[in-house]
Amino acid sequence: MEKYIEIFLNGYLGYAGYLWQEITFSDGGPWWHNYFWYLVAISGFFLALEWIRPWRKDQPRFRKDFWLDFFYMFFNFFLFSLIIYNASSDVVVNLWIDFLASLGIANTIAIEVKNWSVGLQLLTLFIVKDFVEWWIHRMLHRVPFLWEFHKVHHSVEQMGFAAHLRYHWMETIVYKSAVYVVLAFFGFGIDDFFFVHIFTIAIGHWNHANFRIKIGPIKYILNNPNMHMWHHAYHLPQEKHYGVNFGITLSLWDYLFGTDYIPHEGRDIKLGFPGVENFPGTFKSQVLYGFSGLKNRRHRLADKLSKNKNGHNR
Ligand SMILES: [Zn+2]
Ligand SMILES: [Zn+2]
Repeated sequence: MEKYIEIFLNGYLGYAGYLWQEITFSDGGPWWHNYFWYLVAISGFFLALEWIRPWRKDQPRFRKDFWLDFFYMFFNFFLFSLIIYNASSDVVVNLWIDFLASLGIANTIAIEVKNWSVGLQLLTLFIVKDFVEWWIHRMLHRVPFLWEFHKVHHSVEQMGFAAHLRYHWMETIVYKSAVYVVLAFFGFGIDDFFFVHIFTIAIGHWNHANFRIKIGPIKYILNNPNMHMWHHAYHLPQEKHYGVNFGITLSLWDYLFGTDYIPHEGRDIKLGFPGVENFPGTFKSQVLYGFSGLKNRRHRLADKLSKNKNGHNR
């Protein structure tokens, strides 16, 4: 136990120092390798595009909930890591390794890619990660208790780039754990996937931005604002009511698995989900929402079970 507490504390302190070095460029590494300032630069870039050439021209420059999403952006990307994620994920990784070791498994690598070129390794990681995340995203819509948390992302009613990182921190845990477990089967020779992360952030920002350019047949591979707008649609056809267009960076998976849906351009469609009208509007209440849904669900289940037991439910 002491070992895990120590790993937790070290992770915590390590991250605080790392974040400070990122902001002040004092880590001694190359200047371009900087998540904090890349996030700022990519955000500034899309904000400028939204202002210069907006897709929905009558949308305010600072749309509804812009500042809430702005906060989410830094919370999910940095603060959440700073407060808990980095430290606890180190613990999870060590627990996982120790668990496997207790089963006598020291090596989970099934596909050795460490001798491939760096470019090919990055591409492999990107495609595998995106595919795992596509499945997770589908689950977030399909599994009722996960959907309660994912509603935070779908509570966006006016779309803009910063909506990209409006999501519940539980999603970070679900996505990263799944990706971690799958990637453990690959023997990568590099541990720095900076460019993959930066690329996915840029495409994610663009998918939500009030800015559109036509990309021709590339739309069958790459996710885009047109497609992702429909992912946020309030009204969906009955046969696809769990959701459509689950793509994160690639749209390819939706076309392959038949979950694509773009009936028309969709520039001005109503966004959200039935019930979004009553969804809480502040950060704190949104963070708590999924947990209270969980509690209600547990109570309903307990009610149902006790009724069943008493034979009232026939
Ligand atoms: Zn979704
Ligand atoms: Zn979205």
